[in-house]
Amino acid sequence: MLASRLFIPTLKENPSDVQIPSHIYLIRAGFIRSLSAGIYEYLPLGLKVLRKIEEIIRKHMDGAGAQEVLLPILTPASLWKETGRWDVYGKELFRLKDRKDTDFALGPTHEETITDLVRKNVRSYKDLPLNFYQIQTKFRDEARPRYGLIRGREFIMKDGYSFDVSEEDAVKTYDAMKEAYHKIFSELGLDYLMVEADVGAIGGKFSHEFVVKVPNGEAHMVYCDNCRYAANVEAAKFHRHKLPPEELLPLQKVYTPGIKSVEEISKFLNIPENKVIKTLVYRVDEDGYVAVLIRGDMELNETKLANHLKALEVRLATSQELESLGIPEGYASPIGSNIPILADRSLEDLHNFVVGANEFDYHFINTNVGRDFNIEGFYDFGTAKEGDPCPVCHLPLKETTGLEVGHIFLLGTKYSKAMNANFVDRDGKEKPIIMGCYGIGVSRLISAIVEQNHDDRGIIWPENVAPFKLHILVLNIKEEDAIKTGFEIYSKAKALGIDTLLDDRDISPGMKFKDTDLIGIPHRIVIGKTLKEGKVEYQSRKESKKFQLDLEDLDNFLESVKR
Ligand code: ATP
Ligand code: MG
Repeated sequence: MLASRLFIPTLKENPSDVQIPSHIYLIRAGFIRSLSAGIYEYLPLGLKVLRKIEEIIRKHMDGAGAQEVLLPILTPASLWKETGRWDVYGKELFRLKDRKDTDFALGPTHEETITDLVRKNVRSYKDLPLNFYQIQTKFRDEARPRYGLIRGREFIMKDGYSFDVSEEDAVKTYDAMKEAYHKIFSELGLDYLMVEADVGAIGGKFSHEFVVKVPNGEAHMVYCDNCRYAANVEAAKFHRHKLPPEELLPLQKVYTPGIKSVEEISKFLNIPENKVIKTLVYRVDEDGYVAVLIRGDMELNETKLANHLKALEVRLATSQELESLGIPEGYASPIGSNIPILADRSLEDLHNFVVGANEFDYHFINTNVGRDFNIEGFYDFGTAKEGDPCPVCHLPLKETTGLEVGHIFLLGTKYSKAMNANFVDRDGKEKPIIMGCYGIGVSRLISAIVEQNHDDRGIIWPENVAPFKLHILVLNIKEEDAIKTGFEIYSKAKALGIDTLLDDRDISPGMKFKDTDLIGIPHRIVIGKTLKEGKVEYQSRKESKKFQLDLEDLDNFLESVKR
């Protein structure tokens, strides 16, 4: 391709309101443009990268036995009503009406659509298994679209859905998808983790996320370098070392004027933070409250609490709610509580600890479960953090953040039951089909790759997804020899099947170098002053290494680039 004919609107300056490197560079290097919040245009270079990513995904999905389909963007509300998601989805679901006033939604995901296709066409176990995928534009009216392609309102997803006759078969399909995902993300050259994910309150057997490691990412994970355990902090477990037994001391009420926070209490009473217990009052959906006890040096994990309570939502009680319950804010206590009390497992063998006294300015010391108050049980409500013992091998966990690029989920029968997607089994009985679903953020991947592959001058594309493999720069196109040599190398490279961009634009060498660094094509040949000696300069974008290349050796060199 000739740069003079290709639309690559590079920018000298960083666009305003754009914070992270991938967003800055994809815009500055002319890969994408924003049309409206969270809605992007893919320019020729951006589309080339997108297509390359799609091809890698297709190769491994097809290789794992999945079949590609293309489902409509516009989905009838009637399907969403069957599963109840028309009501629960909220504002992210982009709703609209047709001329007959019939409700539709722009598909944010396609479980309903594909389940409808399958129930209309599958009768017996002989028609199964089926594993479909599509690469399609999705719409989610995200509250905070941001970071360019990372969180869009219109974005491109690979979604996939599998249909099996038994849970055993469904697990096998799930494992095959897991393997395919590893192949995809490895081929994309990403540094990623596969982590155990939260399956949520309603249904689902298990779930894994594929997360690309980036600083300040939205996903928080812990992982173990030793045994490879890795999990999203929402789901992460950790081992708790046993505490030594202690003699129970007499319960005592102490005056703690104005002192509320764990840190203040610990200092004031000279008792370590891990012996100060927080009593957290939670509102559970719209039907009640619970008090949850957890050690002062730990954070409560609301996802674990909601899952335990099978609640859609839990949130800390407000000041007014505490008042209506007769609980003095900052001094909530399990002693004398009139709401159910649950405790984190960190209290299981803890003795003589501090709790609030349910009275302003007072705490109890030397408190003990069973002797001073009773609880419903000990459960895992703690948030895992750096340094906590790994649940598998007990060595310290590490913490990192990342970007979720894939999510797989063994759904079970949630959608098939709701939509009557049944099959007649070998034994003649009608049963719901067992489903799995598998997503990849295709457009988000472009950003994820750039987040992991850039420097302070621009993008450094990995070879597999680079928009071009070779960039030829003719520094001065007015020099006849130079432009002639440029076209010769270009023709040879093209004949070898090397995707090549020839910069034949009439602009200054400085601007050409700036653009080539910004765009990030892996290999570069510069035709400049040394041409008189029969030499051109080679430079790799990644290693910045430069050397002079004899034009006579060019054929061998191009062969090596091709590989
Ligand atoms: P997130 O927690 O990031 O919102 P999600 O759990 O809603 O993701 P899924 O419904 O599992 O995501 O969608 C599959 C994949 O699609 C995700 O792993 C992610 O890579 C991508 N994705 C989800 N929402 C967006 C978005 N708004 N913009 C771009 N990609 C997205
Ligand atoms: Mg989301």
